[in-house]
Amino acid sequence: MSFADLGLIPELLRAVDDSGYTEPTPIQQQAIPVVLAGQDVMGGAQTGTGKTASFTLPLLQKLSRWANTSASPARHPVRALILTPTRELAMQVYESVQSYGKHLPLRASCIYGGVDMNPQIAELRTGVEVVVATPGRLLDHVQQRTINLGQVEILVLDEADRMLDMGFIPDIRRILALLPAQRQSLLFSATFSEEIKKLADTMLRSPQLIEVARRNTVSETIKHMVHPVPTAVKRELLAHLLTNENLNQVLVFVSTKFGCSRLARHLEREGLTADAIHGDKNQQQRTEALEKFKNGDIRVLVATDVAARGLDIDDLPCVVNFELPPNPEDYVHRIGRTGRAGKQGYAISLVAPEESQRLGAIERMIKLKITQEVVPGFGTDATPETLRRNRRPPR
Ligand code: AMP
Repeated sequence: MSFADLGLIPELLRAVDDSGYTEPTPIQQQAIPVVLAGQDVMGGAQTGTGKTASFTLPLLQKLSRWANTSASPARHPVRALILTPTRELAMQVYESVQSYGKHLPLRASCIYGGVDMNPQIAELRTGVEVVVATPGRLLDHVQQRTINLGQVEILVLDEADRMLDMGFIPDIRRILALLPAQRQSLLFSATFSEEIKKLADTMLRSPQLIEVARRNTVSETIKHMVHPVPTAVKRELLAHLLTNENLNQVLVFVSTKFGCSRLARHLEREGLTADAIHGDKNQQQRTEALEKFKNGDIRVLVATDVAARGLDIDDLPCVVNFELPPNPEDYVHRIGRTGRAGKQGYAISLVAPEESQRLGAIERMIKLKITQEVVPGFGTDATPETLRRNRRPPR
């Protein structure tokens, strides 16, 4: 099947072609015709499945039917609203809108918190058809009357499960109340808890359910590995693996903001290029770190779950769990950044004895017993002192 078979217009087919995609992914094959037909969608798809294009392409096509070339801002009301849980995801979706819409006369804007509101206000004043936004900042604009959502035709809620985790559902409900009742709505979520279903009930009308990867399943192209190691020498083991296993472009997950910067600094002291992203870093710092990582200027990006949510990094070869997440679903989310689109991925977890329960819960969820390998020198009796002794060259 090709993109043309899905009924996309030439302007979009050209943009898809420029992106180098030759074949639509399963979620794109299923969702694009349904969205074009005007139906609501409840989409079960994780990052990495191509879900962004599955809603962006048909959304742009629908808007293009009545695209307005008038220069007057008043003739360009907000017609599509895409809500995402994080700034990073908002920026990525916005970039997709820009790239797929580059041959269409539609304008888009990206609205997120943590930065000055004024440039956003100026942009909104010029009239934009597509707004990609995080909920909090969008409501700030609503309150200041710098945005009007009264003419929205299409609403997309991306990563609804993350929105729920981050406590955004009351904000979402407030935003829903500002939208016209007559509209098309699409909801995407990796998992469907009772609360997501409740939200879907209030938001969607006779939605078509489209699911591409079953709940909590992980890609078969990912190789999982557990290295049992005492907590006290985890960072030495990480530096050792990075140096000796020739791992390039590694995303390392840690549980705390504090641990995040500290670990990045430690790796730098070991001569590895690294940076950290977490909730206390400002937007510019996060964007810069992500760019450096994507360009290959740094080998290691250390991140907390919240900061890493929805990050789209193509072909990430390896993800390391410096600590296992308390919630087994987060393991699935974390490693979802490797082994994408049929490529081989590698998920390494450094597991201390006190984390064995977490490991058990993860193995039950992914229905897989993960191979365990002790790295020589980093076994249960390793301490920072034994490592220092072993490292010192004999006189
Ligand atoms: P997403 O699930 O939307 O985050 O997309 C994951 C990655 O897949 C992104 O890097 C996209 O650029 C890429 N992608 C999306 N659609 C296709 C396609 N049809 N063929 C190949 N790659 C794609």
